[in-house]
Parts: sequence; C-alpha cells; structure tokens
Amino acid sequence: MAAAGENLRINGDRLWDSLMEMAQIGPGVAGGNNRQTLTDADAEGRALFQSWCEDAGCTMGLDTLGNMFATRAGTDPDALPVYVGSHLDTQPTGGKYDGVLGVLGGLELVRSLNDLGIKTKHPIVVTNWTNEEGTRFAPAMLASGVFAGVHDQAWAEAREDAKGLKFGEELDRIGWRGDEPVGARKMHAMFELHIEQGPILEAEGTDIGVVTHGQGLSWTQVTITGKDAHTGSTPMPMRRNAGLGMARVLEAVEEIAVAHGPHAVGAAGHIDVYPNSRNVIPGKVVFTVDFRSPDLATIQDMDAQMKARAQKICDEMGLEIAFESVGGFDPVTFDAGCVSAVRSAAERLGYSHRDIISGAGHDACWINQVAPTAMIMCPCVGGLSHNEAEEISKGWAAAGADVLLHAVIETAGIVE
Ligand SMILES: [Zn+2]
Repeated sequence: MAAAGENLRINGDRLWDSLMEMAQIGPGVAGGNNRQTLTDADAEGRALFQSWCEDAGCTMGLDTLGNMFATRAGTDPDALPVYVGSHLDTQPTGGKYDGVLGVLGGLELVRSLNDLGIKTKHPIVVTNWTNEEGTRFAPAMLASGVFAGVHDQAWAEAREDAKGLKFGEELDRIGWRGDEPVGARKMHAMFELHIEQGPILEAEGTDIGVVTHGQGLSWTQVTITGKDAHTGSTPMPMRRNAGLGMARVLEAVEEIAVAHGPHAVGAAGHIDVYPNSRNVIPGKVVFTVDFRSPDLATIQDMDAQMKARAQKICDEMGLEIAFESVGGFDPVTFDAGCVSAVRSAAERLGYSHRDIISGAGHDACWINQVAPTAMIMCPCVGGLSHNEAEEISKGWAAAGADVLLHAVIETAGIVE
C-alpha cells in the first residue's frame, strides 16, 4: 500500500458547485435553507444525492429509518467499509453547510478517487443520517442514535412533530424507508467532516480542526426556598431571600467553571423566580446549572463542588435547597487512530491545524460507540451556524475535504 502523495487533492470547484446546487432545494427566506427532516424538500435533496452517487458508480443502500449508504466498492470483499458522511437535513432557518458539507465532501472524495483511478482495499460508504438536527422531531441525532443502539427504533418512530405527525409515518409518506435493519452494518472506521459552529478556527486563521473530543454535559435543577415577603415592610435581617441565594450560587458556578478551565464551562440558562412580582421578595427560585467539559471526572467534580458550596450558602442564609439531575451526556473521546489519521493528513497537505473539542453534538458522537470514529472541522464565518447567514469559503471547504480524502485513503488502503 502506498502513502497518499501530498499532491492528491479533491476538486474544490466541483464540491462548491454541488453545495450550491443542493442549497437550491428547500431554500430559506434569507439565503439559507429550510430542508427539515422528512419533508418534501428532504425527499428532493435525498433524490439529488442518490442520483449523484449513482453517477459516481456507487450502490445505494437504505435502512428502515431512511439512513442512506452509498457504497464505492473496494478490492477486498472481506474488508469492512470506511464510512464518511453527515446529514442533509437543516434547521428551519438553517445554513447551506451544516451537515451538507460532510455528505457532499464524502461524495467529492469518491468522485476524485474515480478521476484519479485510485482503488482502495476497503470499500468507502458515503452516508446521509436521517434527522440529525432534531428540530422537527426531538432529539437530535435520532437515527444515528438508533444505529448505535442508544435509542429504541419504535420509540424513535413514535416521535411527533409540532403538528402531531409521527416520524415513522412521515418517513413512509416521503417514500424513503428502506429495508435494511438499522445498525446491521459493521464499520472499519467513520469520519465526519463538519463546519466548526464556533469561532476558534476563523479567529486563529487555522485551516483544520482535528476533533479529539466531544463535550459532555450535566444539567442540575436547583430549587431554593425562602419566604415571600413585602419588599418594603420586611426589615433586612428578617428576610429569607431565595433570589439572593441564587445570585450567590451563580457566582460560585462561575468561579467553579473558571477554576476547571480552560475547557470547562458553566452557567444557568434557565431561571424561574416566584412569585416574580416587583414588590415581593422571592420566596422560591428554580434554575438549571449547566456544566460542560470533555472530561467526565471534571463534570462530576464541578457538580460536587457546586452542591457543597450552594448548600453552605443556603444554610448560612436560612434557605432550603434541593438538587435534581435533569439531563446529561457523557463526553466523547474519539478514536486515537482515526484522530491521528486526520492530524497527519492535515500535516501532509500543509494545512495549518489544531486539536479542537466539539461543543455541539454530531452523528459521529453516537457512531463512536460502535466504530472507530473521528471528525474534521473547518472554520465558519463568525462561528455562526443554525442561521441562514452561516458562511464558509470555498477554500475552507476544499481544505476540509482534502483532509477527509487523505484520512480515508490512509484508513481504507490504496491498492497499487
Ligand atoms: Zn450538523
């Protein structure tokens, strides 16, 4: 097997043209896209992707959740495929690149291998995962989650949108339910190219993010109870102000997150104050503390410190406090071999790169549970995504797809 030469590149113009053509389907109102999962626009986008894959000589497989698998054959019939891909569905006011770059970058990789007459030992499969966004049917990464055994398929198909339409019925309606059992495919490896959705790469002028981890999170709902009382007639020493208790706890949350830096973060995004009246000292507050880190022990330590400090604050103020865990997601550590394939691909191609942690969830985060997986990120303007104004440059897209090409052929093996 030969190492891929550093002159090996994808066709950046053709990738960009395909991104622009896909963006014609399900146009948004402000230059982006509204191609939500299992809509007519989704069906149209799927058909275009399938026709491109077939033109590139691939065979399309479809599972019973509508996940699409376009296979370019390898030379070894016993070798498991190397998967690439992401998602073609968008937010209601989504961009042209979130997800789409990973799918069409995979297609461009296949087209480039065809142009160059390169054969690989392992087959290559370009995947479009159904309902990554979770905007129409919660949760996000639904079909890749079933594939990885995280969710039950019947439960997934019973998810309802805002109109009460069920996922399974909408999949049938648009005609994209296949007959392959979900999760039956075995993978040699999987690579997902995605825009960063954060500001780091652009701000630093770095071409490629080598994604080593996905951030985990813990949500703790905190209820502090004091006593409602008149804001004018209650002497200061006699108050039991739950709002003030929360303010002191939130200062502690900030200090704890900063002390666990640089990768840990913490805040309370959801706060309810009772009775929420101008002239009543709050007798009760309910808020959710959100701690995130790529390291599970760090998340657990931040939770423990927050609870101890909050308990002490409330004891001193004569307030009651209660904690309830209301959500969590363990951090993801991507496969060392796949991550190093991405890093050495960027190196070989002469692209500037840095290790980066994904702050958002991706299909790769679930697939990592069943196959060696890694992600490649390219910059996006202002770190903006889930917005019609989401923007990347043709050069950034091409660099990301070049790295995808090299990581995949290193993993799939070139046949002389
Ligand atoms: Zn995405």
